[in-house]
Amino acid sequence: MSWGEADRSLPEQLGTDMTPLRPMRGHAMSATGSATNWRSIGACLSADPDLFFPISSVGPAERQIARAKKICAGCAVRRECLDFALSHDPIYGIWGGTTAEDRQRERRRKRRAAAAARRRAAA
Ligand code: SF4
Repeated sequence: MSWGEADRSLPEQLGTDMTPLRPMRGHAMSATGSATNWRSIGACLSADPDLFFPISSVGPAERQIARAKKICAGCAVRRECLDFALSHDPIYGIWGGTTAEDRQRERRRKRRAAAAARRRAAA
């Protein structure tokens, strides 16, 4: 998958294939109610939480991000996690297999698509 594919949304790029659940730790540690119950089954619950909160996006952190994204790729609640992050951005860390930078690109893509739709409607 290439994050440079500006014409496809993140959910489209991520696809819908989900593997079975694994026991965990990560973002699910903060599950507080029914609206966030998806967190209690996130694949990151059994992972090192530091993987999901890299201190940069370059150097050794790139391996950390890649490992976190690999865990997210097999997470059964990846879509819910991504939706949460997109609706609560700016939010730090890796959510739904995306970094803050990935989500920023997604917001820009949506703004451009909305502007293009408005121009088409006005024409
Ligand atoms: S998508 Fe990634 S960050 Fe979100 S709950 Fe699943 S493993 Fe954790």
